[in-house]
Amino acid sequence: MRIAVLAETDKTEPRVAATPETVKKFASLGAELAVEAGAGAGSGISDADYAAAGAMIAAKRGDLLSNADVILGVRRPNARELAGARAGAALIAIMDPFGNSPALAELANTGVAVFAMEFMPRITRAQSMDVLSSQANLAGYRSVIDAAAEYGRALPMMMTAAGTVPAARIFIMGVGVAGLQAIATARRLGAIVTATDVRPATKEQVESLGAKFIAVENDEFKQAETAGGYAKEMSADYQAAQKELVAAHIAKQDIVITTALIPGRPAPRLVTADMARSMRVGSVIVDLAAERGGNCELTKPGETVIDKGVKIIGALNLPGRMAATASSLYAKNLYAFVETMISRETKSLAIDWNDELVKATCIAKDRVVVDERFKGK
Ligand code: NAD
Repeated sequence: MRIAVLAETDKTEPRVAATPETVKKFASLGAELAVEAGAGAGSGISDADYAAAGAMIAAKRGDLLSNADVILGVRRPNARELAGARAGAALIAIMDPFGNSPALAELANTGVAVFAMEFMPRITRAQSMDVLSSQANLAGYRSVIDAAAEYGRALPMMMTAAGTVPAARIFIMGVGVAGLQAIATARRLGAIVTATDVRPATKEQVESLGAKFIAVENDEFKQAETAGGYAKEMSADYQAAQKELVAAHIAKQDIVITTALIPGRPAPRLVTADMARSMRVGSVIVDLAAERGGNCELTKPGETVIDKGVKIIGALNLPGRMAATASSLYAKNLYAFVETMISRETKSLAIDWNDELVKATCIAKDRVVVDERFKGK
């Protein structure tokens, strides 16, 4: 069987879907690897590195795709970019499907089976395949590093002969995977850290990392988690009460990092323009939800806005800013998933269409979009 690794066509995407390490692992399962020339350049991996690990380097997309049983990518390619792919090949990538039904329909029409890694169930068996976690963890880390670099003061308290420097106050909004890593990173750098979330389970997690939890803890809050562990959209009343509490808190912060997301919905607006402007000059906001509309009203995706002396960073693809690490983890996530699709006996692709991981991630098959959420919209 043959596995093809795409070079990303989006110039803002430096990550890659395989590393020399995963190439070797796939080879040991009996797979033949073809990597598109230049695919690893943004992650510091040369064609020679892939070749040394046993991969073929394909200079042309057509050569890469012909005979491929599995096609691995970071972002969803468009149908045109898959010209020459075999019907029935499995295309596995981060599909960003919400709001992109027409593109998915076109992709389905090429005949490839489309798998969205972001729909990997969050169960123990699939933890090693969880791209949302592997990438969000890095984004959380990087958000604090970027904030510290933009902030014109020190983060830890320092007692020096020339005087005492106070510790910076950092507030993390949204305590999922990214938020937890942001808290841990901010703590390591010596800041005074507080955090908020609408899911009650996060209170203990925040406190166990040595940060203080801030939230309106009423009855609605106590039931605000879905069975899948995600946040629900909160009522207008709750949002108003939370807003009041948070507004007073933000005015006293030096750095605010927002990570709040609700699956399949625009990011909730948590920081109004007034709240941002209430921070003192030189403060920094990093909005990790920028890609989904932003948690802060002043956020411009991909830009740093300075408003009344407060910097608002509309961070896009923070994992891509640490592409070598991000690719290494993403490639391992893909390997862990594809390994379950390869028969050890025949050393060929043998997808079990009844496997819950396959059912959850497959959004198109046999030229049909099978995921109800993206059908015919
Ligand atoms: P996410 O990226 O969907 O959202 C980030 C955070 O924003 C969440 O904690 C969410 O509750 C919070 N949020 C949403 N609306 C908010 C609001 N109005 N105010 C404040 N915060 C708000 O979350 P995620 O990182 O994907 O994690 C979601 C869940 O999945 C968590 O329970 C996490 O522990 C769980 N998880 C499980 C596994 C596993 O079992 N394999 C792996 C990773 C994550």
